[in-house]
Amino acid sequence: DESEGETEEYLFKVVIIGDSAVGKSNLLSRYARNEFNLHSKATIGVEFQTQSMDIDGKDVKAQIWDTAGQERFFFFLLYSTCRSGVGECSRNECEDHYEAHSDTTVAKMLVGNKCDLDNIREVPVEEGKALAEAEGLFFMETSALDSTNVKTAFEIVIKEIYSNVS
Ligand code: GDP
Ligand code: MG
Repeated sequence: DESEGETEEYLFKVVIIGDSAVGKSNLLSRYARNEFNLHSKATIGVEFQTQSMDIDGKDVKAQIWDTAGQERFFFFLLYSTCRSGVGECSRNECEDHYEAHSDTTVAKMLVGNKCDLDNIREVPVEEGKALAEAEGLFFMETSALDSTNVKTAFEIVIKEIYSNVS
């Protein structure tokens, strides 16, 4: 229940993953602080920045996680040892839960960064596009250096999650 004058708030998490030196940290710093660093140091561990945007008059916060690129992500499926039925029932529950989440509250985008370096390009834009299409991902080419599509890329995923959950 919303009390009068209180605005609804949303908090979404965005995780940037990819190989080392593809530009993850600079994509985030360009988006969150409009900064670019030609000699950025490798990220140690994970860092995050929070960025707010207004969608339909709602305050939507995105917590954007920058990783070192070495991480592998795991989902833990937990059950309680003091509740009966770790069998069929909770397994189904887990699956339903996972599916519901993977369908509606997760948006994924494949991002080809450094598109400013067109003269030394090795991956044609069509190849990125085709891969994204085959995997059901949004796709965008960006440049953290000259800002091409940086804001747009983040906004597309954040708006997609918002429209799926609101
Ligand atoms: P990370 O390891 O994925 O976080 O990559 P960094 O953000 O640290 O960037 C690695 C190197 O690539 C740095 O020297 C950056 O200046 C450079 N870089 C990052 N993004 C771009 C980009 O869009 N264009 C160009 N030309 N260089 C970039
Ligand atoms: Mg980094």
